[in-house]
Amino acid sequence: MKVAVLGGGQLGRMLGLHGIPLGATFSFLEPGDAPPAGQVGSVVKAPYGDPAGLEAVASEADVVTYEFENVPVDAARRLESTVPVRPPPAALELAQDRLVEKEGFRSVGIPTADFHPVDDAGDVDRALACTGLPAVAKTRRFGYDGKGQAVVESADEAREFVGARGPGLIFETFVPFDRELSIIAVAGLDGDRRYYPLTENHHHDGILRFSFAPAPGLGEPVRARAETYAAALIDHLGYVGVMAIEFFQVGEDLLANEMAPRVHNSGHWTQDGAAVSQFENHVRAVLGLPLGDATARGHAAMVNLIGDVPRTRDVLDVPGAHVHLYGKRPRRGRKLGHVNVVGGDADEVMAGAVRVARLAGWEGPLPAPGGGG
Ligand code: AMP
Repeated sequence: MKVAVLGGGQLGRMLGLHGIPLGATFSFLEPGDAPPAGQVGSVVKAPYGDPAGLEAVASEADVVTYEFENVPVDAARRLESTVPVRPPPAALELAQDRLVEKEGFRSVGIPTADFHPVDDAGDVDRALACTGLPAVAKTRRFGYDGKGQAVVESADEAREFVGARGPGLIFETFVPFDRELSIIAVAGLDGDRRYYPLTENHHHDGILRFSFAPAPGLGEPVRARAETYAAALIDHLGYVGVMAIEFFQVGEDLLANEMAPRVHNSGHWTQDGAAVSQFENHVRAVLGLPLGDATARGHAAMVNLIGDVPRTRDVLDVPGAHVHLYGKRPRRGRKLGHVNVVGGDADEVMAGAVRVARLAGWEGPLPAPGGGG
């Protein structure tokens, strides 16, 4: 069983780490030097849209998948004529443009913040009439981890953002959310679906820092709603594989912010905190194998290691801590690894997460799980 992966970053590496024991082999298409996935499979070094590179990575593959959503949709579609591509390229198309994505959510009954496309200063008044102030101005494409976006408090600020970043923007209503949640869903080739418990996520400077799972204090209706929304999107796209949807929770309501057609950082806790990880389940799904159990084993906290890596020896002193390093060279703001702290007691897991966060250089208090900040 050979899996070709478009992208060779840490997500590709973890797909390999969890897929190799199933008997799968991996090849990665990656333009960068020394990609993290290079230790778990062969690498074809070429741009994602390069026809020769695509042909080389997909040769003799049973399936093509991706660990990165900004792969050219045309390239993924071209591959489809010779080899199954899962998830379907339509999911890439949805995820690559925030306007298409939000329209897609709405079309299948998934609520979102109000939004309006903006290309030039002439669109600003119409957009703000729809979103109100403050609004969040974002680039429609290639924005991630909070890049290419700003909260605008006035029409003048909005016009300034448009002058600097337009065209190709979207304005959204600023949502005063209680907390951010995500769902990791997996859809099998045979129509089976599994949903991991919802994860509570905390970002800092636009980058995910901490996840807590299962999200504490979550009501049954909210969980059921998230699963219904994920199922609607899976049906709409004919989806196969792991999908993540990020939500803002406001009271009992969920507003979808974005989806990822791939394994997701907010699902990393599943490596040590769920019966079968998101990585293994993605490999199982795209290869048409039976899906695995997505239930949580206990409580889990995930601490991202950003810019700097503590000594493994120190982290392993923390009860329940599991270290996952990506083999990347340290650079400010770069995701270099993560630590999962797992256990049967929520307070002990939190205490462990605090210790890990300190070792990782986090100075402030840890965000309080359950919507407390
Ligand atoms: P994004 O790049 O869309 O994932 O946004 C990055 C982070 O910015 C989110 O995780 C939220 O914390 C915040 N954010 C994005 N959109 C909104 C919004 N409409 N209202 C409030 N906060 C937002």
